[in-house]
Amino acid sequence: MTQNNGQKILKKVEIRGSHLQMGQQIGEACKEQVKHSVENARVLLDTAYDSLQLTWDMAKIQASKYIPFAEERYPQFVDELRGIAAGSGVSFGDICVVNVMEAVTVDALHLTKCTSLAINQERSLDGHVMLAHNEDWVPEDEDDVFLVEAYPDNEPAFMAMTYGALLPNIGFNEHGIAQCIDSVYPSDCRIGVPRLIYSRAVLSAHTLDEALRAILVPQRAAGYNHLLAHESGELYNVEVSAHYFALMSSENGTLVHTNHYTDSEMRKVEHEPDELISTRVRYFRAQRLMRQTQMHTRDSLTRVLRDHVNHPDSICNHATIGDPLDREKTVCSLVMDLSERCMYAAWGSPCESEYHLFRPGF
Ligand SMILES: [Zn+2]
Repeated sequence: MTQNNGQKILKKVEIRGSHLQMGQQIGEACKEQVKHSVENARVLLDTAYDSLQLTWDMAKIQASKYIPFAEERYPQFVDELRGIAAGSGVSFGDICVVNVMEAVTVDALHLTKCTSLAINQERSLDGHVMLAHNEDWVPEDEDDVFLVEAYPDNEPAFMAMTYGALLPNIGFNEHGIAQCIDSVYPSDCRIGVPRLIYSRAVLSAHTLDEALRAILVPQRAAGYNHLLAHESGELYNVEVSAHYFALMSSENGTLVHTNHYTDSEMRKVEHEPDELISTRVRYFRAQRLMRQTQMHTRDSLTRVLRDHVNHPDSICNHATIGDPLDREKTVCSLVMDLSERCMYAAWGSPCESEYHLFRPGF
């Protein structure tokens, strides 16, 4: 943690080389964050034992069933996990549990209640293409958030946000492709390629077409919503489940997504939609806030990310009290400017922290 006028500034780790080397560099540079996130996940499973009936050892066995599918399709990203394990001194099995946590807990952890926004030239005062995202997760992992600036040997350079032992997914690459991710709750999950693995592959895409193909990988275990943007101004929401997907492009120069399916066909595979109330409130609130400003700026986007309507389940999320499976808060808030190829990141609740500029060298 770096202090600057009393403000916390996220740590940024620069990594380069093979996938194994890059993982190892993350593990070494963020050893404490990796260990802490694994410990947090253990405590979460312990606390939730009555509802999940899942011990850590059982979770490791479950997680190990997904790894062969990841290895078959994306061995390079399994190598990154091996590197994170080697660099941090945490076992590969433990690292795998954290990376397939949503699958092994069969989505009983209703977490990652994130909000994502995007604008293109039609609605941007300075003509810049921008994405904005609040990452909502268990409060204990707020300390584990960091940024990665990566220069893989044979893939595009990228900058991304991540925390603890998770593979980086939310960010942009040197070809002007950016991704935000929002959890959704499909009912057709299966053993297959874990969501975090194929989401990582989006950051290695050269074109939007490649990014979409990465997401729609055969035998995927389940799905997220991916808000994808290209520097040209193309904006997509891609709602995904294990078997189905819906591709929606922006019609008015903006896009919003939260944590429920918006496509009518995808709603048919939504697990327990009656439980997904606060995400709908956030969705409509974000839509209205985006409509209220004709030409957006970075400041207008951060105002949306700091909104408190329906507090504590607001866009700036503070829902830290209650069921251990349902506690979350905004642990990191981002605005990515694809036209400038830079990221503004606020650590923790954006209502209480400033956004700091991170500009990669690519
Ligand atoms: Zn707040």
